[in-house]
Amino acid sequence: LALVGRPNVGKSTLLNALLGEDRALVSPMAGTTRDAIAAGWVWKGREFRLVDTAGLRRKSRIDDTLEKLATAETLRVIRLAEIVVLVLDANSALEQQDLTIADLVLREGRALVIALNKWDTVKEPGKLLREIEAKVTESLQQGRGMALVPISALKGRKLETLMDTVMRTHALWDTRLSTGPLNRWLEAMLADIALGNRMPSQ
Ligand code: GDP
Repeated sequence: LALVGRPNVGKSTLLNALLGEDRALVSPMAGTTRDAIAAGWVWKGREFRLVDTAGLRRKSRIDDTLEKLATAETLRVIRLAEIVVLVLDANSALEQQDLTIADLVLREGRALVIALNKWDTVKEPGKLLREIEAKVTESLQQGRGMALVPISALKGRKLETLMDTVMRTHALWDTRLSTGPLNRWLEAMLADIALGNRMPSQ
């Protein structure tokens, strides 16, 4: 699991809230470098390895300029992870930078969950959620039905919902299709297209 996102969206706060006071559970894993810290972590009996750029490191060592986040550092973290939580500040969600990171996660074939943080400060939550959902659907190739979870890392709200969504999304991502059913599905699709019943984009 990796937490990514622009500076100041609340990644460190979220990490601390998730780990809670029981930081003793966290221990550096063998074979990890200083830059790609992976910690063992247990949430409700499920074991996670946490890959993190910022949260586990002291602030002074972080150089998370926008440029750096968008490029090598984020990409490396995404590649190390199976599931990526993109943390957004709900009040300035889905700027180009956020979409670039989301797109990167999907192109790398990783599972993506979007956490809409600082929800405690949102004035019209229903309206904002609909707006963000519409933007995700319109801007991301696999955006329809994307998991969006409003949370407040600061107040520790909806963290269970976030982690339940993470586990569900990961389970789906981890589902393997055997080639038999996949080939039959593909043949049926191609036949439909050939018969003109279906457009290739469908
Ligand atoms: P990072 O740079 O992404 O790791 O962000 P930080 O965790 O350092 O948080 C940046 C600022 O946002 C801090 O002042 C936090 O207290 C604040 N913050 C983080 N999460 C929340 C939240 O859920 N609600 C509110 N209101 N503020 C938050």
